[in-house]
Amino acid sequence: MTHPPIREQEPLAQHTTLGLGGPARFFADCSTAEDVCAAIAYARERTLPLLILGGGSNLVVPDTGFPGVVLHLMSRGMECALNGQRADVRVAGGEPWDDVVMECIRRNLGGLECLAGIPGTAGATPVQNVGAYGQEVAECITAVYAIDIDTLRPVRFSGGECGFHYRGSRFKEADAGKFVILEVEFSLAVTTRAVIRYPELARAIERDAARAGIPAGTVTLEQARASVVRLRKSKGMVLDPDDPDSRSAGSFFTNPLVTDQDLAAICRRWADAGHDEPVPVFPAAGMHKLPAGWLVERAGFPRGLRRGGAGISTKHALALVNYGGSTGDLLALASDIQAGVLSAFNVKLEMEPVLAGAEPWRQRHG
Ligand SMILES: Cc1cc2nc3c(=O)[nH]c(=O)nc-3n(C[C@H](O)[C@H](O)[C@H](O)COP(=O)(O)OP(=O)(O)OC[C@H]3O[C@@H](n4cnc5c(N)ncnc54)[C@H](O)[C@@H]3O)c2cc1C
Repeated sequence: MTHPPIREQEPLAQHTTLGLGGPARFFADCSTAEDVCAAIAYARERTLPLLILGGGSNLVVPDTGFPGVVLHLMSRGMECALNGQRADVRVAGGEPWDDVVMECIRRNLGGLECLAGIPGTAGATPVQNVGAYGQEVAECITAVYAIDIDTLRPVRFSGGECGFHYRGSRFKEADAGKFVILEVEFSLAVTTRAVIRYPELARAIERDAARAGIPAGTVTLEQARASVVRLRKSKGMVLDPDDPDSRSAGSFFTNPLVTDQDLAAICRRWADAGHDEPVPVFPAAGMHKLPAGWLVERAGFPRGLRRGGAGISTKHALALVNYGGSTGDLLALASDIQAGVLSAFNVKLEMEPVLAGAEPWRQRHG
């Protein structure tokens, strides 16, 4: 099997949005399914661990780098088939996600517009069920086409087989590092109207429309996209070389989901510590979702905090930022924040980005 050109000692910092991480022992740009299979075989022949890399926007790479083969997915392509009032859109895994959203809006296809401005590739979106402003890819994904790393066979998962939930799926948990996602299929509505469910976004759209002299009423897909991007920019959540706060992996912690009983204990603990401010909470499928950013700030880690070369964004308490330090600095800060929130609320914050090298596949094969 001929493999794609393999580079050695490729610095991974330039492939992550945090701009952190040491070199990859081997690095393969893969544009086709054949490239992907060959890169997997290359790793297997040398009994080396494998790391799948898309846009590197949800990845923390250790300062020591990655001691195996990095499979960089760069496949491109998008096909759209109209199906009555819906369209089936099949997208190659290496397509930049924001381009996919823009193209769907251009074709009057609704369902992804609130996910504009999110960095990374289409193939990574099922991994953590990418979501923002009341939309998640799980609502639209009908199929995921992948290569099984153990057998090199193609596999198809229906949307229901992906095990989607809040910021997770089988690809991030039980089957982490087991499949390379080559293509994702979405079912989108043929429409020019956006459905807005998130109050903060609805207010922003109203404000933006008033500013532009557009009468209130129907919200177009493009209006929704523009307001989402403006909102995200105000939070440093759009990649921008001129905004040092965007040198992050997005939200570093997921919002904890807790039971009735947990919530009561958390509120009691907070009140017993002498605080009048109520603990903010949102309903989430029979559970309660706590805003992790609020927990971080109330545990004594304000926006703009700096520790060595790492810090918290000045615009968003959940974004940990590389201000010219190392992965070590970043993880030390993350671990202090986790300890602080545990001590203040007895809540364990879970890290949202993936720590390269920690996947189960590496432990099985590496
Ligand atoms: C500024 C900023 C804002 C963000 N905002 C959001 C947001 O609003 N909502 C949200 O959900 N996320 C957000 N993120 C996180 C991130 O953009 C998404 O998780 C994105 O889908 C990651 O894509 P990627 O291609 O960069 O994946 P990578 O970072 O390259 O990889 C992430 C994980 O997915 C695996 N992976 C990647 N591609 C594949 C593939 N083809 N097959 C199998 N596994 C794969 C990797 O091995 C790794 O485990 C944000 C990040 C940044 C930097």
